[in-house]
Amino acid sequence: MEKLLETKITEIRKQIQEWKRQGLKVGLVPTMGALHEGHLSLIKKSVETCDKTVVSIFVNPTQFGPSEDLDKYPRTLEADLKLCEEVGVDLVFAPSTAEMYGEGNMLSNDFLTYVVPPFFYVDKLCAKSRLGHFDGVCTVVAKLFNIIQPDYAFFGQKDAQQLVIIKKMVSDLNMPLEIISCPIVRDENGLALSSRNKYLSPKANEEALVLNKILTNIKLCYNKGVNDVRSLTETAYGFLNEHHELEYLEFVDKDTLEAKSVADGNTMVLIAVKIDNVRLIDNCFMM
Ligand code: AMP
Repeated sequence: MEKLLETKITEIRKQIQEWKRQGLKVGLVPTMGALHEGHLSLIKKSVETCDKTVVSIFVNPTQFGPSEDLDKYPRTLEADLKLCEEVGVDLVFAPSTAEMYGEGNMLSNDFLTYVVPPFFYVDKLCAKSRLGHFDGVCTVVAKLFNIIQPDYAFFGQKDAQQLVIIKKMVSDLNMPLEIISCPIVRDENGLALSSRNKYLSPKANEEALVLNKILTNIKLCYNKGVNDVRSLTETAYGFLNEHHELEYLEFVDKDTLEAKSVADGNTMVLIAVKIDNVRLIDNCFMM
């Protein structure tokens, strides 16, 4: 087998160019590592769909706010490499911050060109409490697309706002690749898998089930004929207790993120709750 781990942009480019010369289709799965079954579902989809699969592992500093968990974000490269090898990944790109952003790491927008998503997509949902987050996401994803030049890139529905924004960026900037969205993977109790679940105590883990409970109940009510968003929102309150800090519960158009007052087949419901200071997100479609 060829070398699995690559940390240098010039080296990875050589490998990709060789694959392109051979006419092979390349899939990219961007991640921040600490891989779990959610990530693996994207990776498996890429391995199935493409001739070659590249997984990037990079905890991207430009998408973390000053008071967020950049330093304590789980980093498990050895285990990640093992998982990647097991599911047939061809190349793992795990650059240092200096490799991605240059020596000196001039990460402020005084010194770095950023890709900034449109205001309409970032005046809501996660972007409200995570100022500049999606500038960092779009910038690093655009850089990864330029470095790897994939034919397909795989993203999880788990990060629904991110997925909509990346699709918009690809369309607006005529990026020559296709974005494939993959469904949310949950544990046996319905909790959406996330690298941040590692921060949860056993008690908080139980409390975290509230996100999926609220979404499931909203869907149930919708399927019984309730489509007024105010009434659907009210059904959530009965599930919340003093351990849950509800950040948002919003009903939006699944493609444009426009707020809805009446739910229909194009509606996506998104929720963010803080439990023991761990911020969790989840979402579902109304269908
Ligand atoms: P992250 O490492 O958190 O940046 O996530 C990398 C990719 O994996 C993103 O496209 C996420 O949406 C996706 N992902 C994370 N958790 C899940 C999950 N539970 N189900 C499906 N996709 C996921």
